[in-house]
Amino acid sequence: MSTRADELRANLEQVQERIEKACQAAGRGRDEVTLVAITKTFPISDVRALAALGVTDVGENREQELKAKAPDCPDLSWHFVGQLQSKKARSVVRYASVVHSVDRDSLVDALSKAAVAEAKTVRCLIQVSLAAYGSADAASGAIRGGVEPSAVPALATRIAAAEGLELGGVMAVAPLGSDPDEAFAGLRDVASRLRSEHPGADWISAGMTGDLEAAIKHGATHVRLGRALLGTRTPLG
Ligand SMILES: *Cc1c(COP(=O)(O)O)cnc(C)c1O
Repeated sequence: MSTRADELRANLEQVQERIEKACQAAGRGRDEVTLVAITKTFPISDVRALAALGVTDVGENREQELKAKAPDCPDLSWHFVGQLQSKKARSVVRYASVVHSVDRDSLVDALSKAAVAEAKTVRCLIQVSLAAYGSADAASGAIRGGVEPSAVPALATRIAAAEGLELGGVMAVAPLGSDPDEAFAGLRDVASRLRSEHPGADWISAGMTGDLEAAIKHGATHVRLGRALLGTRTPLG
């Protein structure tokens, strides 16, 4: 067994423990939360090692990396979690079964067209901006993307009506300088309003390495973990 595989195994054990504890503290079952390993910048050998350790769901934030890695591990569920240009929709749909970052009508239309062309059903999460919970000067929270909570119902209607797409729920990133507890409580409200109109849209994708406990406390069904599993990233050029 190589050193890297040992390291990944140890990281995964720690992460599973964190998730388990957070579920217990929230009075939730461990089976209510899915771990999505965010493998961006890390090699396919790491993806294979995680799969061998039982990880079933992996995510990427760039189309180029997704299409480079996904064909090597077709048995995994691939999630796309990054900003997506409409012209890359076809490629993303080819490899990913879930897109967490749907944030505009034109992207819904492009994803729908791509899903029909690929004869697939793609689960779409609406990325919600929690910028309102960030500090004022982190209005750069806009960089983190997503639609304002007030725009969620209209986008949801469009996804629900789109051929080849399935409305799955919401996704968010806690803004820099925010209290993740408040931000994710806000997200939970957005999610419950959405669910009252679309009962099947029951996923809440929230929680990263730094804030998974707060996310699970507020109902996250999918936590997206990179660094906690794989270590520090070296930024791509
Ligand atoms: C990179 C990334 C993550 C993982 O973040 P970590 O802090 O490494 O756990 C989660 N979600 C999105 C959208 C990301 O781009």
